[in-house]
Amino acid sequence: MTTPDVPDLRTLLRAPAQTPAQTPVPAPAAVPTPVPADVPAAPAEVPGVPAPVPAGTPAAPAPVPTAAPEDALAALPATAPGGFTPEQARKDVPILHRTVNGHPLVWLDNGATTQKPRQVIEALSAYYGAANSNIHRGAHTMAREATELYEAGRTAVAEFLGAASPENIAFVRGTTEGINLVAQSWGRSVLQPGDEILVPVLEHHSNIVPWQLLAKETHARVVPVPLTPEGEIDQKAYADLLSARTQLVVVSQASNVLGTVPPVAEMAALAHRYDARVLVDGAQAVAHMPVDVRRLGADFYVFSGHKLFAPTGIGALYMTPEMMGAMRPWQGGGNMIESVSFERTTFAPVPHLLEAGTGHISGVVGLLAAIDWLRSFDREAVTAYENALMTYATQAMATVPGLEVIGSAAERIAVLTFTLAGHDPASVADWLDRDGIAVRAGHHCAQPALAHYGLESAARASFALYNTSDEVDQLVASLRRLQAGA
Ligand code: PMP
Repeated sequence: MTTPDVPDLRTLLRAPAQTPAQTPVPAPAAVPTPVPADVPAAPAEVPGVPAPVPAGTPAAPAPVPTAAPEDALAALPATAPGGFTPEQARKDVPILHRTVNGHPLVWLDNGATTQKPRQVIEALSAYYGAANSNIHRGAHTMAREATELYEAGRTAVAEFLGAASPENIAFVRGTTEGINLVAQSWGRSVLQPGDEILVPVLEHHSNIVPWQLLAKETHARVVPVPLTPEGEIDQKAYADLLSARTQLVVVSQASNVLGTVPPVAEMAALAHRYDARVLVDGAQAVAHMPVDVRRLGADFYVFSGHKLFAPTGIGALYMTPEMMGAMRPWQGGGNMIESVSFERTTFAPVPHLLEAGTGHISGVVGLLAAIDWLRSFDREAVTAYENALMTYATQAMATVPGLEVIGSAAERIAVLTFTLAGHDPASVADWLDRDGIAVRAGHHCAQPALAHYGLESAARASFALYNTSDEVDQLVASLRRLQAGA
């Protein structure tokens, strides 16, 4: 294999962004597009499973519901306003063209992780094939190039979230690490005995447990904010719980188990009246709706790249300038210092202060590629499409005897958590898997939210922009066969 051409990569690094910057940050770099690398375009063949269809296979036809479970179902428009169709995304995602247990894969586990477009896969290969280096500390060309890429990723994330500056962004492993970072770096130095952290019952365990650990250490209190029967955060109870003791309110922009999209901006505005800070968990939101952290009023915002079509092991934390000033070292090591001596060590400014050790450079490259891929679509149109798919799926699921969807919030992302009379959730997931349909079963790391409905476990179908109404029909048909004892 010939060595990929470095000047070419450098040209790509300097290419202008595809979409105009929303914020006064420096122009973002484009994603390193494929260099001639030996990346398999399609996933490896799985033993016992027919070979996957290679990427670049002509797109499937528009998503006309093929086998609507009932005539009464509303048809899903093949095209969302703005012109988005799921095939525009599907054609880029090789894994969606494989088979599982002899059936075409129906990936409805997007809440757990999303599948990766070839642009992301190829960006990783291009990076390792032509640009791999450690960053910041090397005084050579490739170290500078890798640094440029890494910082281009920071700029892209800042723009993607509507942050004022790339400096507001620290790279982390994911949402969980971002939340733990805030708890340790900010919370430990700020919280006093008797202070309160308001945590909705809706939250993922990773937005509960770090606060419990912090509360234990600081003698602060975690105060649960109750849910309504529909699975919304009880806004009256929330307003009543806020007080001068409240130091922090945490909330997910979208729930991974009920799909609920709470009124985060209103909740943040209310919290700020009490001088409390607000942390928003964007893990489930980033892939499904445009995000503007400043409009949301988030003091902190965290997300995981792998839920955004990027690799695992990379995510980002956004902090306001005020919160940047309140961050303390949480892990020590290289990259986060200015100078070290046994007499006196001085520290680098945020965000570098929060990034001890060698970062996940290729992860940032993949995240950059994923953001660029997502930005190639009309985000509003994607959201409109996913909302229409959710409406369609909700109606279709209602035709399955004994199926109960958990939660009915007025605003939701495309997540359907359900129980099926006569079958435990694990056996439902197992049955669907035999038909090549991937859904998750279990407590979804949201035990308090499920307990609100008297449940310990449920099955969950979670959708993304590349899912089609045809896949909804396959899910429903399979569930109906299970109920029919077929
Ligand atoms: N918060 C929410 C709402 C989530 O859905 C998840 C992942 N299921 C997380 C936090 C944790 O994300 P990660 O495991 O990528 O850190």
